[in-house]
Amino acid sequence: MTQKALPFIPFTKPTIDEATISAVADVLRSGWITSGPKVLEFEKALGDYFGGATVRCFANGTATMKIALQLAGIGPGDEVITSPISWVATSNVILAVGAKPVFADIDRQTRNIDLNKVAQAITKNTKAIMPVYLAGLPINIDALYALAKQHGLRVIEDAAQALGSSWNGTRIGHNGKHDLVSFSFQANKNLTTIEGGCLVFNTERFGNDQVQLAEKLRLQGLVRSGPDGMEVDVLGGKDNLTDVNAVIGLHQLKQLDQFQQRRIALAKDYFLKIERAGLANKGLGLPIADFEQSNWHMFQVILPIARLNRSRSDIMLALKELGIGTGVHYPIITGFDLYRKLGYSPESTPIAAEIGSAILTLPLFPTMSSHDIDRVVQALSEILS
Ligand SMILES: *Cc1c(COP(=O)(O)O)cnc(C)c1O
Repeated sequence: MTQKALPFIPFTKPTIDEATISAVADVLRSGWITSGPKVLEFEKALGDYFGGATVRCFANGTATMKIALQLAGIGPGDEVITSPISWVATSNVILAVGAKPVFADIDRQTRNIDLNKVAQAITKNTKAIMPVYLAGLPINIDALYALAKQHGLRVIEDAAQALGSSWNGTRIGHNGKHDLVSFSFQANKNLTTIEGGCLVFNTERFGNDQVQLAEKLRLQGLVRSGPDGMEVDVLGGKDNLTDVNAVIGLHQLKQLDQFQQRRIALAKDYFLKIERAGLANKGLGLPIADFEQSNWHMFQVILPIARLNRSRSDIMLALKELGIGTGVHYPIITGFDLYRKLGYSPESTPIAAEIGSAILTLPLFPTMSSHDIDRVVQALSEILS
């Protein structure tokens, strides 16, 4: 009769149907398993999803973002302004191309980068802004691009979590205003290919040269001509997506809207039940209730750790005991040893430092039930009282 006897609710879980599994088997039997026709088909389908945009796929979101930085010509001596509350991949790729990540503080409500702080961080060395859409909540895209234009900066959007999100009625990645938009298809994301990523280009503004360069960078810098012609004139990596991954993506893409509707319904259920349980009065910080623009990649709360006089890790263990899985997305990047050794510190972005130590991701995935939400809210109530 205790909650322990009930099945464990993980913080996330991919939804893979039988049709996807047999399509993977078909690819495995086909004789061509690495990058081939399925990748081309997936890139075309994604392009259609973004209203006819040019899209290329890569092995993962990290490789996608790194190649995007290379396309924007970012390297040693350049500064890129980004959010300290992101997966460490975001700033790691800035370091990987030899540039310097500059962390601007976040907005307490959106938990995304604060554009006023971005403006203050711009120097003569700034080359790009790399915003992150945490949990799929977009920032003000109009204000972002106005600021970039004013200072002649490139924008590489880390939209890893924002597939299906929109700004002002237009899907992120869709509109001609965007520069380079990077998505991830890692296992936890709203659409997964197990691992994978894609970049949406703005060919209207930057032409097709960047697309061709991206193709080279993802495969050893290689250009083929004729049956035996090969040339290499830039240093590329090995960052191609495989047909096995792509066929999973093709099936996921068909279900993406349905997944998103389910996520939105579950998020609304959370708000309703958290309100009913009076948890906001007990100091629980809630996300912005945006059911128009966010894809609800995650449902994240801010724990009142000071009031409870209890650590987040202790609370996570207590929830686990009650059968509830949770996650931390994310600890502040500047608190990691590597970044501290490079001279960064969490204190320079105080809001991010505070949020990074108290944020908690609650379970949210399309196959979750309303009863599961009851259990999560009940468990939180026990812990907060
Ligand atoms: C998942 C994620 C990435 C990295 O994507 P991978 O596919 O895991 O390499 C980068 N930034 C954010 C915000 C992410 O959520």
